[in-house]
Amino acid sequence: MLLGCIADDFTGATDLANNLVRAGMRVVQTIGVPDEGATVEADAVVVALKSRTIEPGDAVAQSLAALHWLRARGAGQIYFKVCSTFDSTERGNIGPVAEALADALGAEFVPVCPAFPENQRTVFKGHLFVGDLLLSDSSMRHHPLTPMTDASLVRVMQRQCRGRVGLVEHAVVRQGADAVRARMQALQAEGVRFGVVDAIANDDLMAMGQAFTGLPLLVAGSGVAIGLPQNHGLTASAAAAELPRVPGARAIVSGSCSPASNAQVVDFLRRGGEAFAVEPLRIAAGEDVAGEALRWAADRLGDQPVLFYATAEPEAVKAVQARLGVEEAGALVERTLSTIALGLVERGVRRLVVAGGETSGACVQALQVERLRIGPQIDPGVPWCHAPSPAAGAQGLLLALKSGNFGTVDFFTKAFTLLEQGV
Ligand code: ADP
Repeated sequence: MLLGCIADDFTGATDLANNLVRAGMRVVQTIGVPDEGATVEADAVVVALKSRTIEPGDAVAQSLAALHWLRARGAGQIYFKVCSTFDSTERGNIGPVAEALADALGAEFVPVCPAFPENQRTVFKGHLFVGDLLLSDSSMRHHPLTPMTDASLVRVMQRQCRGRVGLVEHAVVRQGADAVRARMQALQAEGVRFGVVDAIANDDLMAMGQAFTGLPLLVAGSGVAIGLPQNHGLTASAAAAELPRVPGARAIVSGSCSPASNAQVVDFLRRGGEAFAVEPLRIAAGEDVAGEALRWAADRLGDQPVLFYATAEPEAVKAVQARLGVEEAGALVERTLSTIALGLVERGVRRLVVAGGETSGACVQALQVERLRIGPQIDPGVPWCHAPSPAAGAQGLLLALKSGNFGTVDFFTKAFTLLEQGV
């Protein structure tokens, strides 16, 4: 294993895995830390945790367990994947986890860079920009769990860790890998342990990727990943994204109520796709909506993909939430959609698209999926994956897990077209 990655949330893990595959690495993403005995065939493994907003002590413990598992399998370099908007609170968890990993690895200098210019996340003079806005002027300022009110990553990081934090400024990065290396050594000699690295374009990520060769630990968003495979002689190729062919029926399960998912459902219906609407109030009234959906599916699983959706416009969602409570409504719908997903796979579906971050989590759990091999990208941040699942038998199944606002309006159609073109 060339690279061992620890991601602080699930969709962030997939985003990172997707970038590594695009740059030429074969990647497996695991859901949580795998069993001690598990083996994985890949250039990089991304362990997806859910540690972004839990207690710092728990985040450290889980991250160290992931580190232990990855190192036991020979991971050459460790990549702690954080959000590209550096989502964290004053207490962490980026600083405490980075410091604990650095201690465990004996890392004396650790670069820190959440930049992903393709996704409008740039770092200049240590300040994080979201599009044209400083992080602290962006909507992240009002995030319910991790409000980001300071755009200076040097300051934010320094508040979260004991080790000194410094800056590798863009004037250095633009001179290339040797200059970055020299600056990192100089900072280390001054007693700096964490260096925020500026990046405003892909070239910067490629230069720093080269400069990071041999460092035990990196703290980064998913952008830095594009510059790492080159260090191992790997370049972008379709081979890294190859997945096993899995014949079988096709279906979509959508529990996301984001504007993008609403538009994608409307687009699927407009094209004449067959669909079953899951109504939360009927579930709450005790009706067997999942059973009904699966009976409805029985005659329809065949040539064309079928859609099961709870996706609704904001007013409808608010009305349901007012009746059932926000959490209860979410849990009811997630339970029903994941029961449907499992039933579909038991009835022969082998290519499944799931829309919604939490909905994906629930479906993956119901299908007892523990790992995903990452395949070709459908839209930025959303690849097709191959997953073993007890419900799918020996061949496993192909899954595309789309969070919230990802994907173009024709995403559901496009996903299956990509498969037909020969995954
Ligand atoms: P996203 O990635 O868009 O945030 P999620 O799946 O993470 O999507 O979250 C959507 C939440 O909304 C889930 O908990 C889901 O069960 C819930 N939900 C889906 N449809 C409805 C609906 N019609 N009414 C109320 N809640 C719903």
